[in-house]
Amino acid sequence: MPIYDYRCTDCDHRFEAFVRKDDSTSCPECGGGQLERFMATTALGTETTNGMAMRAARKRDARQANQMNRTQREYEEAHDDH
Ligand SMILES: [Zn+2]
Repeated sequence: MPIYDYRCTDCDHRFEAFVRKDDSTSCPECGGGQLERFMATTALGTETTNGMAMRAARKRDARQANQMNRTQREYEEAHDDH
């Protein structure tokens, strides 16, 4: 069941709610039905997204580092005429 972020346009109260089939969510503060709906940005979801981006970045950095090490080693081997 999807969770959405809502903002009540009457009292500006923000809250999360499961979306019911009849979509009859109302503000828990004032009971008003004038709500703006956002896709929920839960802490868990944000963390997961950031974690994945972080892992991808680390992977890329590691690959670049490996490539640099290899290039350096090849350079040293090519010029090792002692
Ligand atoms: Zn309200």
